[in-house]
Amino acid sequence: MQKPAGMQKPAENSSKSAGCTETVASRGSIAYWHYDHLSFPLPEQHRYPRGKYRLVRELLLAEGALAPRQLTPCEPATWELLALLHKPAYLETLRVGALTPQAERELGLPVTHELVLRARAAVWGTQQAALSALRGGAAANLGGGNHHGFPGRGTGYCLLNDIAVAIRYLQQELLVERIAIVDLDVHQGNANAEIFRHDPAVFTLSVHGARNWPYRKAESDLDLALPDGTGDESYLAAIEPVLLKLYEHFRPDLVFYQAGVDLLVSDRLGRLALSLQGLRRRDRLVLELSRDHHCPLVVTMGGGYARDLADTVRAHANTFRELEAVWGRIA
Ligand SMILES: [Zn+2]
Repeated sequence: MQKPAGMQKPAENSSKSAGCTETVASRGSIAYWHYDHLSFPLPEQHRYPRGKYRLVRELLLAEGALAPRQLTPCEPATWELLALLHKPAYLETLRVGALTPQAERELGLPVTHELVLRARAAVWGTQQAALSALRGGAAANLGGGNHHGFPGRGTGYCLLNDIAVAIRYLQQELLVERIAIVDLDVHQGNANAEIFRHDPAVFTLSVHGARNWPYRKAESDLDLALPDGTGDESYLAAIEPVLLKLYEHFRPDLVFYQAGVDLLVSDRLGRLALSLQGLRRRDRLVLELSRDHHCPLVVTMGGGYARDLADTVRAHANTFRELEAVWGRIA
């Protein structure tokens, strides 16, 4: 693994490790943020699954996996918070609605005031979830994971980068030292790889489809590019040792899990051909490793574009069912 300085094992009696253990032991129910009350205009037939966020939340509430008191609607992140990562000129174009048609094409979504508000809310949700995780062990954003958002431009449906802004905030406030991004979306987490390329305190892991967009990959601290049609067993066999090494050698104080479900066999963009059950086992692996290593965890949804929206919703809901099963009943 790269970042050798960052992979060194911290002292056994470091205050940071002791803090994590104490936090995990005293955690309560898991807190979730959501922003599906903020919609935005989208052309008919656009493949962006705008409806999945609300459907996942409603499903989890209807089946009793989550209680209403666990959920908080997001507010828009302030421009000051966004400026910890994003370039002032880019933020200004978003503020006044002056993105060029070419920039909109690169994003893949029509940029409206409503979309900007929603993207700001996604950032707020992940930042709040990170603060909650540091207090309580695990927290989630029922959205977010916008890993193609660069400081000065939005690409691949990601206008702003919630995880990277949250990390910059935690660093500014000196709240945490060693952070890992575990990005298991089928697409490479190229923006996060680039943003934290030279930051020894942030380890970026991306496991993705070798032939999926972005075709020109960035360089994460660890990239695992898998072939088309990988399937459940090969996939799980590939990621387990990598994840284990991350938790045991880098020893993060906080993990951001980008739990994209676009690896699903029925996904329009996914090529890795995982089943719903395989994805669920993937989620459980990450969640259990974090729990067993006393490492606070922030879960974000990431991508999911199945031909039948219900498949995507089921897969995302499974992530949060597993989160509740692994982290929710230990308090
Ligand atoms: Zn994706």
